[in-house]
Amino acid sequence: MHESTTRMTQPILITGGAGYIGSHTAVTLMEAGHRVVLVDNLCNSSARVLDRLRRLCGDAFEFVQADVRDGAALDALFEHRTIASVIHFAGLKAVGESVAQPLRYFDHNVGGTISLLQAMERAGVRRLVFSSSATVYGDPASVPIPETAPLTATNPYGRTKLVCEDLLRELTHADARWQVAILRYFNPVGAHESGLIGEAPSGVPNNLMPYITQVAVGQRDALNIFGNDWPTPDGTGVRDYIHVMDLARGHLAALRYLEREQKSLTVNLGTGTGVSVQQLVDTFARVTGHPIAHRHVARRPGDVAACWADTTLARKLLGWQAEHDLARMCEDAWRWQAMNPGGYED
Ligand code: NAD
Ligand code: UDP
Repeated sequence: MHESTTRMTQPILITGGAGYIGSHTAVTLMEAGHRVVLVDNLCNSSARVLDRLRRLCGDAFEFVQADVRDGAALDALFEHRTIASVIHFAGLKAVGESVAQPLRYFDHNVGGTISLLQAMERAGVRRLVFSSSATVYGDPASVPIPETAPLTATNPYGRTKLVCEDLLRELTHADARWQVAILRYFNPVGAHESGLIGEAPSGVPNNLMPYITQVAVGQRDALNIFGNDWPTPDGTGVRDYIHVMDLARGHLAALRYLEREQKSLTVNLGTGTGVSVQQLVDTFARVTGHPIAHRHVARRPGDVAACWADTTLARKLLGWQAEHDLARMCEDAWRWQAMNPGGYED
């Protein structure tokens, strides 16, 4: 069969496919003509995302409710389908929770990844895109951060990402049949432009953008800005916010790279631009017409002053770069929140 035909007919498996980044990546892949199989245990997502995906993309996907730590369930899944590649999002991501529950985090994130790799090995599927994070750079010595910067972990969540990265590096060195793309995301925000899918955190949001949108919609009274004495131009923390649809496109570009080059890579996915908390708050108010009440409070333990990506390698190897600006990120995040004040549970 011709290679491009094979690509379109063999589905791509997306673990954590009901989650925030997984669901947006599913849309991007389906829009590019792929069939996808989503696997998720729904421990941090809602089955209602599936109706939304159907509204956006029709029936080009299949959903399997399963835990990636369940080897038998994965074997059954691979046995009945000819999977071309796997994109592995499934895992837990709350830093604070990981400090309180390190065992659970290692079980899902490291145990889950080992279980998935073993099932892939048994099925002879050796092409993987892995969700890593800029957290592996710890408190960076300088910005922008290139992929060659030293790696470290400052909390159990970050350690699980680093352990998985190390494991994947060992695997690709040991067996050249494995092709792995390690993608280090900076700060994903925003939502699909339809407002049908988006980020739906449970409880009080840890992250800045969902907190801002919940203040704007009237669910929270004011944003706590963690620190105004950082060594940054306005004293608030600086991050590299990237639109989730740009991030989703980065996964497609990484898959194409693995197919084309037949070799592994590790690459940052960010915009390459640092934005402060104050700048994000101001941009959100300007774009949406909703001023965000806020107060300055102490720094959050474990935070760093500034973190943004050197995106040279992604441009060079993947031919990919972020296209949506900060205003668009705010606009899309707000549309999702305004249309779905209670997330998927409305
Ligand atoms: P998310 O929680 O929305 O999605 C993760 C999905 O995985 C959820 O739907 C959850 O139910 C599922 N899941 C968790 N453990 C599972 C298991 N054992 N078996 C099957 N399904 C399981 O999170 P997200 O923001 O979409 O993040 C996706 C990935 O990207 C994660 O690995 C995360 O660590 C990584 N990441 C996220 C960010 C971010 O800011 N959102 C930044 C860097 C990296
Ligand atoms: N932040 C804040 N208030 C909040 C949440 C976050 O001031 O309620 C700040 C935080 O200190 C950091 C930036 O916003 O400077 C991004 O934080 P987030 O948790 O979204 O991402 P991360 O810290 O993982 O980069």
